[in-house]
Amino acid sequence: MKMMKSDRAGGLRRALCGVAVAVLAGPAMAQPRPGPLAMETHALRGGAYWISGGRSNDGFVVGPQGVVVLDAGISAAEAKMEQAEIAKVTSKPVSAIVVTHADPDHVLGLLYYPTSTPVFMQENARSEVVAAANDPAAPPAYKALYAQLVERLPRDTVGRELVTTLGGVRVVLRHYGPAHTAGDLVMYLPDLKIVYGGDLLVNYTQFPVIHLAGSSLGWEDSMKAILALDADTYIPGHGPILSKAELASRLRDEQTRREQIKAMVVQGKTLAEIEQALPDKTEDPMFITYTEGVYAELTRGFPPPNPPWNNIVKRPHG
Ligand SMILES: [Zn+2]
Repeated sequence: MKMMKSDRAGGLRRALCGVAVAVLAGPAMAQPRPGPLAMETHALRGGAYWISGGRSNDGFVVGPQGVVVLDAGISAAEAKMEQAEIAKVTSKPVSAIVVTHADPDHVLGLLYYPTSTPVFMQENARSEVVAAANDPAAPPAYKALYAQLVERLPRDTVGRELVTTLGGVRVVLRHYGPAHTAGDLVMYLPDLKIVYGGDLLVNYTQFPVIHLAGSSLGWEDSMKAILALDADTYIPGHGPILSKAELASRLRDEQTRREQIKAMVVQGKTLAEIEQALPDKTEDPMFITYTEGVYAELTRGFPPPNPPWNNIVKRPHG
């Protein structure tokens, strides 16, 4: 999905819709995951768990009063399996669901949770769901699911940070600026030194996955901030869990590659020339490549150098 033609003026809406189109229309999304889903729950510490085996990693934390769920999966099947995994560990009720971003594999399963369960998400993620629901280019089936989801979204969203207690668990929800998407939200458990990073952290491609409304510079800033947290266990949205050293190594690799791309852009090289010189064999075919994303950022001048990032993409709640 190439969406390089977005100009700066009026680019916001296109950028937001571009996220939805890139996510919804990609070949990987159209194909079922091979084989049946086989979720597996992995204990971390202090009541915190992560679940592998779905389209994306999920997580949950069992607190004194209830369970905090991290991401909801892509479908009814995934949401039900997630609930079954939680039920193997505890009979406590779900106190809240935290959503790391608006991509379907993390958010559409929300439709299969009771409407009484509070949902926490970043304000730009909410806007991205609304944009996807209204995007004429979105495949009808997904557009309809996003439209249903709009009814399910919280009116109150997280801006920069929310420090609170959910189910008796002390959680810090932070948004560091557009990175993977415009509305990434990290859940940090300070008492357990655990970070659930959603797709800010992916551990299956060589370089991060950056949507058009995201930002590689924002991703670097997010990584630096996450590395500075008092934590030692990082749960990515996809792939195995990461140590702090592995996270730091991924950041260094990304910074090196971004500088290489930037140098070639300054030399006036085309995207094709850059891709040929700097191949990325591990890219996800569902999204624009890392190289395409950085090239677009550098040549469009987006995002601008001065934060706050979220004002760039902030839209009224629909
Ligand atoms: Zn994902």
